[in-house]
Amino acid sequence: MARVAFIGLGNMGGGMAANLVKAGHEVRAFDLSEPALEKAKANGCLTTGSASQAVQDAEAVITMLPAGKHVREVFESNVIGQAPTNAILIDCSTIDVATAREEIEKAAAAGYEMVDAPVSGGIAAADAGTLTFMVGGTDEAFERARPYLEIMGKAVIHAGAPGSGQAAKICNNMLLGASMAATCETFVMARKLGLDLQTFFDISSKASGQCWSMTTYCPVPGVGPETPADRNYEGGFAAALMLKDLRLAMEAAQSVDAYTPMGAEAETLYARFAESLGGGGKDFSGIIKMIDDSWVAPEGTTPPPLPPVGAKL
Ligand code: NAD
Repeated sequence: MARVAFIGLGNMGGGMAANLVKAGHEVRAFDLSEPALEKAKANGCLTTGSASQAVQDAEAVITMLPAGKHVREVFESNVIGQAPTNAILIDCSTIDVATAREEIEKAAAAGYEMVDAPVSGGIAAADAGTLTFMVGGTDEAFERARPYLEIMGKAVIHAGAPGSGQAAKICNNMLLGASMAATCETFVMARKLGLDLQTFFDISSKASGQCWSMTTYCPVPGVGPETPADRNYEGGFAAALMLKDLRLAMEAAQSVDAYTPMGAEAETLYARFAESLGGGGKDFSGIIKMIDDSWVAPEGTTPPPLPPVGAKL
């Protein structure tokens, strides 16, 4: 069993680190947050006083951090030059493609193999060890990272060269954001046209409009399988995180001159819901409440700069 350093023990990283412990690895864990460290300790991790301490003698270093700037800071200040050069470096955070490529290049220049390995699946999948990993890196680096990722996930897919994991992740989530917004507006229109929504679900889920946002994650309470819509849009994948991913997607689209009007519209809609209307903590399917105008913004929320989305059709 290996010595694994795990940095970033938040909503996702906490469960992922615990699964490595359950598989018999010695996990040396660090986070800036005291409660996160306490939880990791209770789950059998050996907590350390710094990220640099966690990576000493590590055979693998895994990070699950909020954004690109945190990844850059941790790798450049605490990992590169501090972990043994034969440690495989695995960043599972969702970050911009450019930073992922840059950090992998810097790591390679210092003698390390590193992959970007963002995940699909939320907190429940992180806890259950059923994440999907999309991995960017050389064939050798992928093979070295794979045994660790297989413990934390149900699928581990080599997406291509360094940065390809992040590219696959934001392409997937751009499609998801746009398809969820389209699913929401479709159900709102179906209701206004007098359709019974369960009947419409039964028809459309077997017709050409079928998509994951409808059949697996229906945004309408009581329709289709149980989803966050049945829990007042609590839990699941936060609208703020969808907005983060859509912004990363738009940044990437610009960098390669890709025309992405549906992605851009999804970004505008999620910015309005998550930020202007204070819905960032709700599941991303909760945007249906903005679209049907039933959303009550929390007190103190800045009024939106635009008229209600469904106001003029
Ligand atoms: P989180 O905010 O719960 O956890 C991040 C942790 O990193 C925090 O505990 C924070 O204290 C720690 N941290 C920040 N800077 C640090 C540093 N310099 N050193 C050590 N620790 C530091 O976030 P999360 O929900 O666990 O998400 C982590 C990543 O996974 C993000 O990139 C997110 O986009 C991605 N993701 C999240 C979900 C989800 O459903 N939550 C799903 C897929 C992907």
